[in-house]
Amino acid sequence: MPEKVIIVGSGPAGWTAAIYAARANLEPLVYEGAATEENRVAGTLPLGQLNLTTEVENFPGFPAGDLSGFLKSALDEGNHWLVDLHQQEGCSGPELMHLMRKQATNFGTRVVTDDIAEVDFSGGPFRLTAAGGDQIEAHAVILATGARANYLGLESEEKYKNNGVSACAVCDGALPRFREKPLVVVGGGDSAVEEADYLSKFASTVYMVHRREELRASKIMAQRAINNPKIEILWNTQVAEVLGNDSTGLTGVRLQSSVGEPDRDVEAVGMFLAIGHTPNTRFLEGKVEMTEKQYVKWTVPFRTNTSVDGVFAAGDVADDNYRQAITAAGTGCMSALDAERWLGAQRLH
Ligand code: NAP
Repeated sequence: MPEKVIIVGSGPAGWTAAIYAARANLEPLVYEGAATEENRVAGTLPLGQLNLTTEVENFPGFPAGDLSGFLKSALDEGNHWLVDLHQQEGCSGPELMHLMRKQATNFGTRVVTDDIAEVDFSGGPFRLTAAGGDQIEAHAVILATGARANYLGLESEEKYKNNGVSACAVCDGALPRFREKPLVVVGGGDSAVEEADYLSKFASTVYMVHRREELRASKIMAQRAINNPKIEILWNTQVAEVLGNDSTGLTGVRLQSSVGEPDRDVEAVGMFLAIGHTPNTRFLEGKVEMTEKQYVKWTVPFRTNTSVDGVFAAGDVADDNYRQAITAAGTGCMSALDAERWLGAQRLH
């Protein structure tokens, strides 16, 4: 018997879709991704990008406060290690993701810890093949595999991830470690300007490191960076090395000139990457319509439908604009409601 709905992906979009689908008696099956070394290196482990961050201060409903008692009561014993790690006020990314997963399984969501490697959307029921070889059929599919931030690919950058290196200023920028200290933003697009502008509220100085002599950002955004007295744009430069030590984390960056000037070190306590994101859509190539940047295309305004009838998309896999946990959760909810209505109209539910 085909599944009613399969959800591929396990970030806020996937779990919210699962919570809604389970409560609508769709008995959802979630493929949450595989916990492999390959996925770790690529930044595509189960539980998504939030699982790679520290404090989450902007997800409504989790104000500062000691959540350890709540975590202990809400999570299975197997996840009480999160309570032991819980040191900060409020909620961390991993805690939030484990809470969402638990909420979905509480309502009967079944979970398989594997990647979907191949899909056949040529006719219903759809056929999906997992990396481990499982073949599953489903009447409806919700794609929620998210996106991953691009990094420079330096070994030293990897070493200081979550210890000064971040790809999300909105998530991490307000942390106490970054306050009133110099920070580096890498990139010259709208995101880099937005991040630099945001960080300038907390930092003493924000160095924008851009590899060319002209920003890619739109004129109005570029002007915002140029006009901001706390932002210093370092033109024609690239980060060659992230500097730091085990006790303090990141302490600066080594900059290489792209026009032949000598290398120089800049002191900073944080480096924020804003050099674009890559959606996790390789397994969907040629199967569903995508945008130029390989994001899944939403084909109906204010709905989560894709170009394939019965296949829906939620979260960052289809959104290169907002990219927030709360917006992913929002479209996750929408996708489950869209799938439920679609299944009802087909008399499959
Ligand atoms: P983007 O426009 O693709 O810009 C990426 C930037 O990173 C570019 O400046 C690029 O340099 C640089 N870069 C890429 N790879 C690099 C590398 N390996 N080393 C050093 N630098 C590297 O990406 P985005 O800024 O994330 O924007 C994505 C889309 O969202 C855009 O369409 C943007 O307009 C939109 N957006 C809009 C707003 C807004 O309107 N408020 C805010 C954020 C994003 P080069 O310039 O040399 O290629």
